[in-house]
Amino acid sequence: MVRVRFAPSPTGFLHIGGARTALFNWMYAKAQGGQFILRIEDTDKVRSKPEYLEEILESMKWLGLTWDEFYKQSDRFELYRQYADKLLAEGKAYKDGEAVVLKVLEKSIKIYDLIRGEIVVDSKEIKDQVLMKSDGSPTYSFACVIDDALMEISCVIRGEDHISNTPKQILIYEALGFKLPKFAHLPLILDPEGGRMSKRAGATAVTEYRTQGYLSQAIVNYLMLLGWSPGNNQEKILMASALKTFSIKKINKAGAAFSLEKLQWLNSQYIKEMDTAQLAETLRPLVAAQYPEARIEGKELEHMVQLYKGRMNTLLDFLDWTGFIFNEQVHFDEEVKTKHLTQDMRREFDLLAGHLSAVSDFNVKSAEEAFRGVVAQLGIEAGVLVHPVRVALTGKAVGPGLFETMVVLGQERTVRRLKEAFK
Ligand code: GLU
Repeated sequence: MVRVRFAPSPTGFLHIGGARTALFNWMYAKAQGGQFILRIEDTDKVRSKPEYLEEILESMKWLGLTWDEFYKQSDRFELYRQYADKLLAEGKAYKDGEAVVLKVLEKSIKIYDLIRGEIVVDSKEIKDQVLMKSDGSPTYSFACVIDDALMEISCVIRGEDHISNTPKQILIYEALGFKLPKFAHLPLILDPEGGRMSKRAGATAVTEYRTQGYLSQAIVNYLMLLGWSPGNNQEKILMASALKTFSIKKINKAGAAFSLEKLQWLNSQYIKEMDTAQLAETLRPLVAAQYPEARIEGKELEHMVQLYKGRMNTLLDFLDWTGFIFNEQVHFDEEVKTKHLTQDMRREFDLLAGHLSAVSDFNVKSAEEAFRGVVAQLGIEAGVLVHPVRVALTGKAVGPGLFETMVVLGQERTVRRLKEAFK
C-alpha cells in the first residue's frame, strides 16, 4: 500500500518549497492509488502557532491538496514517552539529566534514495541522539520515526535539507525494530542566481501568491515543474495528464531554479483559458473589496473580463486596469499625462464629445464611426487623437481597443471625461 505524508511544522507560513514537497507527495500517492497523510509536527510548543496551522491548512485546501488522514504530534506525546521508556528498558538509550539519549553504535548506514541512489554514511560522524527533551517533548527525529513507522509510511518524500537527518533517523528505526520506508529527497528550490530561494526571487509564502492574484492551478502547475518535467518541453500540464506520467525517479538531482517570469506566464495562460463567467465570479469579490462604491450590473463585469482576460498576468492586473471604470475620477499616471495630454486639444475633444453624444445606439462600431468622422472633419491622422483620448478616459497609455474601452465606460461617462479633460 502506497502511503506518504507531508509533515509541516506550524512555525511559519506554508513556504513555496513546502508546498512543492506536499504536491510531490500528493502526486506520488494519487498516481498509484495510494494515501496522502497530513501530519502536523507541532512538538515545539513555543514556536508552533495556531495561526500558522490555520494558514497551512487554508493553503493546502486552496491548492487542492486534500488529505486522507490528519494527525497532530501534540496529541501523541504519551506514545513517544512509551517508546522512549522501551529503549531505556532495553538499554539502547540512557538518561542525561531529564533527557533520553540514544546510544549510537559504530556501523555504516546505507540509505537508498529514489532520486539520488545509494548514500552510505559512517555512524562515527553521528553523535548520540537526544530522543526526549528535558521538558518531556520528543525531538523532531524521534517523533518523526515513530509516526512514519506507525502510520505505515511507505516512502518518505521531503526536501534535501533533511538529508542529514535521514541516517540519524535510520538508527532510531533500527533501535525500535521498525521496518525502513523508502526515501526520496527533493532538490532545493534556488533563486535565479543559484542561491537558496528567498524573497528576492519572488514571494516565499503560498498565501502571498494568492493575494497577488495567482490562480491555484497555475501555482500547482508551476510547482510541478520545479524538479520534474513531463517531457517534450511541455510546460502547461493539467493534473490528470501529469499523474499519468509522474514518477519520483524522474525528479532531477540538481536544484530547481525559481522563475517568477515563468510562473507569471503560466498564470496568464490559465487566466486566458478560464471560462469568462467563472473568471468574472472569481474577480467579483476582489472588485468589491477594492472598489466598494462600484455598482456592477448584470453582465457588465463579464463584458469587462472578456475585454481584459487575454492580457492579464495576474488577477490584480484586472483591478489595476479597470480602476477607471469603477472610480468616478480618473487617476492619471503622471508620466503618461505629461506625455500625451499637454497639448491643448479642447477643440478636438469637444468635437468628438459632440459626435459621440449624438450616437443613438452606442456600441463599438458606432463609436468608431463617430471617431472616424471627427478625424476626417479635422483632417488629422487618427493616431494624433487616439492616445490623448485613451489617456483622458482611462488615465493610462495602454489598454484594450479604444472603442471597446468607450463602450465599457458607457456613453455618458465617455462624453463627460472628454469635456472635462482640459478643465
Ligand atoms: N517538520 C519537518 C519540517 O517541517 C518535516 C520533515 C520531514 O518531512 O521529515 O521540515
